[in-house]
Amino acid sequence: MFTEPQNPGITVSDILLYINCPRKAYFVSRGFELFPEVNVSRLERMLLKELSLTYPEIIKQCSLNADNLCKELEVTLAQICIDLPLLFPRELAGVGRGICDEAEARARAKIPEIATNLLRAVEEYGKEPMLAALTPIKTEPFLSSEKLNLKGVPSKLVCFEGAQVPSILKPGNCPDQGVWASDRLHAAALVLLLEAGDGKEVPFAFVEYVSFGLLRKVIIRSSDRREVIQICRRVEKIKAGLMPEREEEKFCKECNFVEQCTSEPSLMSKFF
Ligand code: SF4
Repeated sequence: MFTEPQNPGITVSDILLYINCPRKAYFVSRGFELFPEVNVSRLERMLLKELSLTYPEIIKQCSLNADNLCKELEVTLAQICIDLPLLFPRELAGVGRGICDEAEARARAKIPEIATNLLRAVEEYGKEPMLAALTPIKTEPFLSSEKLNLKGVPSKLVCFEGAQVPSILKPGNCPDQGVWASDRLHAAALVLLLEAGDGKEVPFAFVEYVSFGLLRKVIIRSSDRREVIQICRRVEKIKAGLMPEREEEKFCKECNFVEQCTSEPSLMSKFF
């Protein structure tokens, strides 16, 4: 007797890769390493993400003016540089002193802007609402939905205006207003997962642009949910072996898979 083939499980990271480039999702599903090594930019992003986790404590304790905030953030960053190898021993094994120093210097250079933006937000929205939006009630909780065949781990869940909502930390650039389309879909995927737990509607999420100290609230629309569900179905097919058509992406130049991607189409891809 034959059993039905199981759909390969998908993760929110698969969705993010797909949004970045469907072919990247294919290569990673075939076991290729996405980041073969930690470079300065990646390490800088890791430092800034860790730093952002300390914002609530710093805002709570510090008498809020730009100088104090900068000083606190600098002291905290120095400590994070010491602690980071303990948090990510495998990723950071073999990363040279030069890379660490440059990444730290770049992260440090962002602190004045982070402090200014945090301070401005506290003044505009009030300390308590800002703390509510930044303080995790759960850090990196595992969420899953059988219906969507999807799993994911938001950076944190926060409790804001009585609702438990996901918050994601983004170390890249920040749009002038709102959030990037890819971040909106990331947030929507996590909202769908959170709703799968207790069935309660989660109307919004937060996106924290950690290199700038900016927090953005994003209302999740039906069109976002629809798009996430469609991507889930496409990623399932990719994980089952479908190689998507190659489209020249703006990320191609710095992509690790350019060699595999530009070689002759594989036999497998001809079958699908
Ligand atoms: S080389 Fe370009 S198309 Fe190919 S996987 Fe990388 S980003 Fe995608």
